[in-house]
Amino acid sequence: MHYAAAAVTDRGLKRPSNEDAFGISVEHGIFLVCDGMGGAAAGEIASSLAVREMMRLLCTRGAANQPPVDAEQAVAAANMAIYSRAQRSQKLSGMGTTLVALLVEDRRAWMTNVGDSRGYRLRDGRLQQITVDHSLVEEQVRMGQMDRQEAERSPFKNVITRALGTQSCVTPDIFELEIEPGDLFLLCSDGLTRELSDPLIESLLRLDVPLQPLCERLVAAANNAGGHDNITCLLVRAAA
Ligand code: CA
Repeated sequence: MHYAAAAVTDRGLKRPSNEDAFGISVEHGIFLVCDGMGGAAAGEIASSLAVREMMRLLCTRGAANQPPVDAEQAVAAANMAIYSRAQRSQKLSGMGTTLVALLVEDRRAWMTNVGDSRGYRLRDGRLQQITVDHSLVEEQVRMGQMDRQEAERSPFKNVITRALGTQSCVTPDIFELEIEPGDLFLLCSDGLTRELSDPLIESLLRLDVPLQPLCERLVAAANNAGGHDNITCLLVRAAA
């Protein structure tokens, strides 16, 4: 299986800085998006530290004389890197970041997430959300305490229940996937999914457009819808 990838990150229209970050290594089959929080400087540090640590650890995967690093270990190490950095500085105290990552190895893939950045797959023209948000409203929807419409209007929809770097330990979700030729994966921050509905994202992803301009179209659509937050989208396409 061959993979191609592209990504765009954008400040949006309302925020003074961009606290999102992404990482791509087609060679190593690593793709990730992080959405930092904790105030401008701290959020940027948290998300870029997460990307750097994850890339560093996962790129040594399978290298000669190096033990393989799995996703869970990489997440734990990135978490500790952010957490200990925050402990050393008052200004960075409480910083954290979301994470959504896709790791591919020929026809197998693992998607992992912490927080409310999402991973989707478009297969045969149908969009499916793979990850489950670690957010207060998602938990309440799952427990039957509110429906999707109420969740949309909730003043607490920004509250995430897991993040990288805010505590000494974190548990990511990991989804194991079989890849088929033609699969298209979207990793994105909530700046995209808050502005665009899943059916709209699906219709954009079905366009016959190369990956980079497709990322640009998604980001432009989110900005047209208000651009209230930083927007990051990363696309990965599998081909036989
Ligand atoms: Ca965000």
